[in-house]
Amino acid sequence: MEAALFPQHIIAKKRDGGVLTAGETEAFVRGATDGSWADYQLSAMLMAIFLRGMTPAETADYTRAMMHSGKVADLHAIKQPKADKHSTGGVGDKISLHLAPMVAACGVAVPMISGRGLGHTGGTLDKLESIAGFRVNLSLEDYRAQVERIGLCLIGQTAELAPADKKLYALRDVTGTVESVPLICASILSKKLAEGTDVLVGDVKFGRGAFMKDRAKARELARNLVKVATAMGTPMRTVLTAMEEPLGRAVGNALEVAESIDCLRGQGPADTMAVTYALGEQMLLLTKVARTRADARARLEAVVADGRALEKFREMIAAQGGDTRVVDEPGLLPQAKWQEPLAAARAGVVQDVDAMGVALAALRLGAGRARTEDRIDPAVGVSGLVKVGERIAKGAPLGVIHANDLKALAEAKEMLAGAIKIGAKAVRPRKLIDEIVG
Ligand code: URA
Repeated sequence: MEAALFPQHIIAKKRDGGVLTAGETEAFVRGATDGSWADYQLSAMLMAIFLRGMTPAETADYTRAMMHSGKVADLHAIKQPKADKHSTGGVGDKISLHLAPMVAACGVAVPMISGRGLGHTGGTLDKLESIAGFRVNLSLEDYRAQVERIGLCLIGQTAELAPADKKLYALRDVTGTVESVPLICASILSKKLAEGTDVLVGDVKFGRGAFMKDRAKARELARNLVKVATAMGTPMRTVLTAMEEPLGRAVGNALEVAESIDCLRGQGPADTMAVTYALGEQMLLLTKVARTRADARARLEAVVADGRALEKFREMIAAQGGDTRVVDEPGLLPQAKWQEPLAAARAGVVQDVDAMGVALAALRLGAGRARTEDRIDPAVGVSGLVKVGERIAKGAPLGVIHANDLKALAEAKEMLAGAIKIGAKAVRPRKLIDEIVG
């Protein structure tokens, strides 16, 4: 059958449940990139895809077209195996900051192009920018050269990378078309595969603090990500992880950098390290640097124990113009004017810490963005958070609020108190690593 070429024909074909040809998806993506499709046509097409879905082959065509809507980094000349990780994001998820240097210290190059958080707390780039001088906006050439030189570079999405996704994501945000598996899949993979990695490990989170609330939907996304990336020639595995309580004990940009430094020193919170190792193991297995999970785990633990991972982190900060002194003196990271503990009103066992409640408290303090143009305050947030299952005494701190504004401090304190439940019965922390897909 002949390919439909006019926007209205392609839209109608998808509206009626048809399967688009590669040429038709390319026409749609070209229309988003060069402006030849109007916003109302792009939006109608997004809604048609949202309602009708896409086959795996269509999703792969769509992802390929999005990936090639801009520049694609060519890292073929780099001899080391290359691996990256993508997380769908969660509250307190600072794992990229310490996982990337850990994996790089094991001999796998990590080319990582990351995002800013539009959610309640900052993204990886916002966290790194709390280190004075750290530059995340390198050119693709400087990025390539740094990966070659030190095996690690962590930058932001440049304007040249997957521009179709930038346009379409902005439209999805305001047209009720974000939560669609093929649209999410193509959006994530077009950016990640354009960065030049050989293999990819996904962390798809589900639960109250995640973008995907529902486990079944998260699993469907995980399976599709693996299927499409593999079909496009990039082996991928995805770890499904629960996001009910915050990851670790710190939420807020500089506070999370400090916690990541603890992780690199082997002193990170148990839940954060469990997810870190689960992802790192898959990165070493997919690149064939390790043969078994136990071997991969031993390698990762060794680079933490002997300080090589911390040194790799320091090397990356130096290469990207940041103040390396923060590695030994985290007190040099931005500090909030007020640091006030929230005292437990009763003794007992922590029954629940609602990740979304903590995220909203952090947002009230200024740790995240309500709108794209908002500025983040790197110093604010919550540290020393209690974890589900811990026993606490009356008056003991449930967390410390870091604030630069007294009104925000009072409100955030109330919000945090509402997010933490103390009771009498013993509770076990819930299982974090749910399943490995792929
Ligand atoms: N992250 C992305 O980059 N794109 C989506 O569509 C959803 C999450």
